[in-house]
Amino acid sequence: MDSLAKVYWNESKPLILPFYPPSSYGWSLWVGARKLASWDRQSLYNHAQSTPILERWSKRRNIPHHLIGSIDWEACEHAIKLLGLTCSLWIPKWLAGFAPVGKVQQRNQFQDHAECPRCSGFETTAHVLLCPAPQAQRQWDSSLSSLDQWFAKALTLPDLQNAIITRLHSWRNQDGDLPAPSYNWPGVNDIVLDQDAVGWQAFLEGGVLHAWAAKQQEYYNWIKRRNTGKRWITTLIKKLWEISWDMWEQRNGEVNNPESPASLREHARLDALITTNYEDVSTLTIKDRRWFRRLKEVIFTKSLEYKHQ
Ligand SMILES: [Zn+2]
Repeated sequence: MDSLAKVYWNESKPLILPFYPPSSYGWSLWVGARKLASWDRQSLYNHAQSTPILERWSKRRNIPHHLIGSIDWEACEHAIKLLGLTCSLWIPKWLAGFAPVGKVQQRNQFQDHAECPRCSGFETTAHVLLCPAPQAQRQWDSSLSSLDQWFAKALTLPDLQNAIITRLHSWRNQDGDLPAPSYNWPGVNDIVLDQDAVGWQAFLEGGVLHAWAAKQQEYYNWIKRRNTGKRWITTLIKKLWEISWDMWEQRNGEVNNPESPASLREHARLDALITTNYEDVSTLTIKDRRWFRRLKEVIFTKSLEYKHQ
C-alpha cells in the first residue's frame, strides 16, 4: 500500500465496515479470475488503472488511435486518490458500465424493465447524464455552474474555461454539428478539435487530453503564478467525475421518492399483481393466505416494501 492510501485508510477505517455485505449491494468485484472478497483499496487502484481496461474503454468510446497516447491517464490515477471512499469505488464500476442502471438491472434480471426513474426512457449509463427530465437538467446546470466557479478560482485560462463549459453543454444537448472553435489564445482551437475527436463523453469520464494541462501551465507561467497545470488537470478530472456522481445521486434520490414517476409505476404494477392474486387465492398455500385476509383496497395504500411481500 502506498503511504497516501495508508493514511487515508487509517483515517477512514473507524467509519466504515471492512466488508460490503453482498446481499445489500447485489454486486461483487472481480479482478481477473479472483473475486475481491475483502476491502483492498490497492488492488482496486491497480485494477482501475490497468492498461487492458483503458484500452478496452478507448475502443468502446471510439477514440482515434493516434490520440489514445495523448490522454492524461496519469492524471486520472492521481485524481481517483482525491475522491472520497464511496465515490472512488464507484468510478471504475461506472466507467466499465456496471453501475446498476435500468439496462444493467434488466439484463441481470433484478427488474423486468430498463426504464429511467426520471423520464421512463431506456436507461443506459450515458442516459443518467443525458436524461431530459427537468430534475436532471437542474442537477446538470448546478454541477456545471460549480465547475465554472472552480475554473475561475483556479485561475483557468478563460478560453479553456469557455471552451470546456460550452462543449459540455453541447454534448448534453446532443448538438449534431459543433461550431468551429474560434478562441484567441494560440493553440486552444487545436486542443478543442482534438478533444472533439476523442469525444466529450470520454472527456467527462476522464479521457482528457494532456494538451489541456500544458496550455494551462503556459497560462500560469504567463500570469506568473506558481500553480501547476498538472495539479489543475488532476482536480479537473476529479470534478468531472463528481458531475457523473451527482447526476447518479440525483437519479437514486428519484428512485426513493414516493412521488416520482418510477415509484408510481411500480405501485401500479404491484397493485395489478395483488389483484390477480386476490382473484386466485385458492392456488396459494394455507400459510400465504394470511396476506389476503385484509381488503386489497387497504393493501393498495401500503408502501412498496409491504407490497413486495
Ligand atoms: Zn431519463
